Amino acid sequence: MNPAVGDRSSIYIGRFAPSPSGPLHFGSLVAAVASFLDAKSCAGQWLVRIEDLDPPRAVAGSDHVILSQLAAHGLRPDQPVVYQSQRLPQYAAAVKKLKQQGLVYHCRCARRDYQTHYPGTCRTQNLKPEPGGTALRFRVGSSPHTLVDRVHGALTWHYGESMSDFVVQRKDGLHAYQLAVVIDDIDQRISHVVRGADLLHAAPLQEALFTALEATPPKQLHIPVVLGNDGRKLSKQARAKPLDTENPVNNLRRALAFLNQRQPPQHTLENFLKYACDHWQPERIPALMGRSETTN
Ligand code: GLU
Repeated sequence: MNPAVGDRSSIYIGRFAPSPSGPLHFGSLVAAVASFLDAKSCAGQWLVRIEDLDPPRAVAGSDHVILSQLAAHGLRPDQPVVYQSQRLPQYAAAVKKLKQQGLVYHCRCARRDYQTHYPGTCRTQNLKPEPGGTALRFRVGSSPHTLVDRVHGALTWHYGESMSDFVVQRKDGLHAYQLAVVIDDIDQRISHVVRGADLLHAAPLQEALFTALEATPPKQLHIPVVLGNDGRKLSKQARAKPLDTENPVNNLRRALAFLNQRQPPQHTLENFLKYACDHWQPERIPALMGRSETTN
């Protein structure tokens, strides 16, 4: 079986998980469209989860804006939208379980104390918790970790070089993205993750957590991120232009072109999406970390 095609015989539950730090831009639409079409082409469900774990980064009301932008493009979730801020007890229970298994340790280090990969400074120190002064870090195994991405193929990460122990609860007590995503994906029974390649590095870390929590990790597909004229990822923080909902079919055409898919001849939203779904070919997505729209 071509790994990009996925397993169409089993239950498919996919998701789009935006952070409510501003309105959707073209780059986030591409991720939403890819996850939607991949799910729908497998007769699966498509869920939306608002990742509002980090209150200082959340922009009030942007969850509603995002949901209405999605709806304007015909992208409607199959289940009620889940908010991470409503799920703190589930994250706390997972942290408790990891503690009981001895899989996390207290860590005093700050991000500025090391370069790209955490060198394991506090790993064997058996530090006591200090409120506000220690984070909790997950201990990843030291053997190489290989996973098969449906676009990028088999990739291997090495402990200390390309993956290292990571924070599951921050010094300020907030649960970290890596933990929340995994607990949500387990609880929502997500079978396939489709998202931007800027999160490819997180996939082996998340798989390690899935395994520690005795859950099967979802299949992975990472699409190239959309680069702006400056060669950097379009992002809400960098104030990328909000997605205009005046002409959704035109935006969807641009998204399909970016993903190297066939262009539907249809002009009405519903028929356009149906054609795009019937002709979705994930194996045509370029195996790149990022690309600009104009490279098509
Ligand atoms: N919330 C993340 C973002 O907006 C996506 C997380 C995920 O898809 O795993 O970049």
